Order: sequence, then C-alpha cells, then structure tokens
Amino acid sequence: MHRIKRHLKVWMTASLLIYGVFAGTTPSFAGSLEFRFIGNMAFQISDGAFTILTDYPYISGAFGYMEYQSETVKPVGTVLSLVTHEHDDHWNPASFRKAPGWSLVGPAGVTGSVDPNRVIHVDETAQFGPATILVHQTPHSDLVHYSYVVIWQGVRMFFSGDTNSSKELLAEKDLDVAFVSPWLLNQLRASGRRVDAKMVVVYHHGVDEQITVYQDCLVPVQGEEFTVAR
Ligand SMILES: [Zn+2]
Repeated sequence: MHRIKRHLKVWMTASLLIYGVFAGTTPSFAGSLEFRFIGNMAFQISDGAFTILTDYPYISGAFGYMEYQSETVKPVGTVLSLVTHEHDDHWNPASFRKAPGWSLVGPAGVTGSVDPNRVIHVDETAQFGPATILVHQTPHSDLVHYSYVVIWQGVRMFFSGDTNSSKELLAEKDLDVAFVSPWLLNQLRASGRRVDAKMVVVYHHGVDEQITVYQDCLVPVQGEEFTVAR
C-alpha cells in the first residue's frame, strides 16, 4: 500500500504504524503525521496543511548543543511554534520575528517578547487547527516551564521539555509517542518505571552522546524523518 524505499526501523501495533524514512522518500496519505528532527528539542511535525515546530526556532549551537541551518527548515501550511521555555537552546525570539506568519504557544517568558497578535492564548488547553494542546506546568530552573500533550489526527504525543519531573509523563495513559529528554529517560530506567507510550523518542541529546536505550526508544539523528499513521 505505501511504498518506502528504505526502512530505518519499524514499529507496528494494531492501531498505529510508525516507520522511519530517509529524506525525499516520505509518502503522504490521509491521517498521518510526518516528523523531522531539527536538533535539540526541535521537531517539525506536519499533516500537510498544518505544521507544529516544537522548541523552535532556537539559537543554533547555544550552550554547546546542536547546530542547524535555518534554510533547511521549511514548514508547510499554517505554522505554530510550540515552546517549553525561554532558554536559548529552545527559543530565539529574533528568528521568530523573521517568520511573520507563524503563531506561538508558550509560557509568558517566551510569549512576552513577541507581538501579542501572534500568540495563541493558553489556559490549560489551546487549539491550533486540528491539534489540541494540553499544558502541564512542570519544574525547570527558576522559570515557568510547560510540558505538553498534543492530540492530532488521533495521535497522542507528550513533549517533556527540560523538566526533571517524570510525574506528569508517568500519569499519562495511552500515549502514541512520548518525546523525552536523556535525563528523564535515565531517571525512568533507574526506577524501572515505564512510559505508557507505543513509541519513545529521545530528544536534546548531544551530537555524540551515547544513549542507553530504554523502552526500545528512538534516538534520532538530525534530519531524520519518520511518519506516524493511525
Ligand atoms: Zn532549559
């Protein structure tokens, strides 16, 4: 049914199909989300009409983390930046201002530096086109930090951001994809607790960082793409 030239890795369950592809071979069909890893906690996620960019734009190379070329990031359709907090390796307001059509969801430390007309108001939830966004305020440093659940095309996703707290993640049930920092993954492995998710993706690892795999997690390289279909 779907032709893919080269598989990196395949997960299949009764209700969810996830597969990795190399750039340029991504098929498109209804009811799927396409993911591309930019760097740090930045993913480009699209259904073809709407695109969410998590923790993007950020300052390339900030604090020694991943660099990227902004020319390679070409989101399609209506675009939202979904940002966990204002540290430089997650957020760069100057770059956001240069992308005038994009909207923004984030805590006040993020949204305070841009035109309020571009900010989608968040209480506990926010709506962006077909995507429902649920906010968990989670601890990080001395600032307001959001972890997010995004429900889109029937796919339930969790984005931890930089928090050290796994409580909110472990309380979530029936996730399809959980995006988790290396330090949260280590914490989970040390405690033996498992995330209730069909797929765990590590993000914010260093370029050469060795990740000890837990829950069969994907450790993406920059530019890696995969598709999740319900
Ligand atoms: Zn941070």
